Amino acid sequence: MAPTQGPRAPLEFGGPLGAAALLLLLPATMFHLLLAARSGPARLLGPPAYLPGLEALWSPRALLLWLAWLGLQAALYLLPARKVAEGQELKDESRLRYPINGFQALVLTALLVGLGMSAGLPLGALPEMLLPLAFVATLTAFIFSLFLYMKAQVAPVSALAPGGNSGNPIYDFFLGRELNPRICFFDFKYFCELRPGLIGWEAILTTMDITHDGFGFMLAFGDIAWVPFTYSLQAQFLLHHPQPLGLPMASVICLINAIGYYIFRGANSQKNTFRKNPSDPRVAGLETISTATGRKLLVSGWWGMVRHPNYLGDLIMALAWSLPCGVSHLLPYFYLLYFTALLVHREARDERQCLQKYGLAWQEYCRRVPYRIMPYIY
Ligand code: NDP
Repeated sequence: MAPTQGPRAPLEFGGPLGAAALLLLLPATMFHLLLAARSGPARLLGPPAYLPGLEALWSPRALLLWLAWLGLQAALYLLPARKVAEGQELKDESRLRYPINGFQALVLTALLVGLGMSAGLPLGALPEMLLPLAFVATLTAFIFSLFLYMKAQVAPVSALAPGGNSGNPIYDFFLGRELNPRICFFDFKYFCELRPGLIGWEAILTTMDITHDGFGFMLAFGDIAWVPFTYSLQAQFLLHHPQPLGLPMASVICLINAIGYYIFRGANSQKNTFRKNPSDPRVAGLETISTATGRKLLVSGWWGMVRHPNYLGDLIMALAWSLPCGVSHLLPYFYLLYFTALLVHREARDERQCLQKYGLAWQEYCRRVPYRIMPYIY
């Protein structure tokens, strides 16, 4: 019998029906974008130019390549790390330990790819393999999420996430039941968040993904399929629809990206440093609000500007990543549009959770920092 926990968290994403719809809609959207980017009209809205048959989706070579990539990243993850960080305190008051070796993995991966290319590895064939690669990534996400769902059946109650344990199998499969599923020291969520799709994000241990959300289809599909195949949409678009870009415009775009990165990095690092050690000299001088839980909330610095300054920085970068595609098509702006919707929704989820956690102190924070993401606008 599945373990149960105390009072159930309110359902999110439209409950079981919403979760069932997203299970179909997310992969369908990803394939639509992949097909649209390579088609002549490159239309974001409207039906795809053609529907690929199974022979265009299934390729044993793509499966081998995908497994080799996952295997390589898993092996690099297991290499001894120079630094091991502690996560946030869990329900049972323990803390998990995480190897910090993403940069090492990135450098070694780049070296191996470089060596492979000099030995004749045909990397130029990759764009042609995107569809079958996306297909095996999607299959992997479904199978892996099933494994995670089953694994959670035998997990102790203290290991379950606040959401994702409604008792409805579709909803729980989607949202994720166990907070930090692991086998020995191998942390599946941390690995998937940081390795196959995005390498090098190191202030992640205090983010919602790690501290709040269970590990199920939502994050597994996001990490191993959605992020690599849709976040690279602009590059896919440019490959098939090259656009002119002069030096002045390129410089402006680089500047926009630098501003976004400065805000994104500054805000995430500030909160991460503060959560790890509030007496750290880099954050000790910042103004805070005390909460009944004993934790404090930053109310000056980046977190005094808006309630989610890190989202603002991320959105500015999203704009910079779409601008090189020009303004002739809407498709390359999908990332910006989708990401705005995602972060507005995510911000509302986080607000609810923080209000539940911190009560009056959160209300006081909202009073002192009235804007959510964009100063004077939202
Ligand atoms: P955050 O890193 O913003 O974490 C939210 C948590 O921070 C809250 O639950 C609360 O947790 C803590 N917090 C909130 N306000 C304060 C404050 N004033 N002082 C101290 N702590 C505070 O959440 P996310 O995980 O959503 O985002 C992390 C990064 O990931 C962002 O930069 C976001 O843009 C990016 N992101 C990117 C995605 C993508 O697809 N590219 C998807 C999602 C996120 P507690 O108090 O318990 O510590």
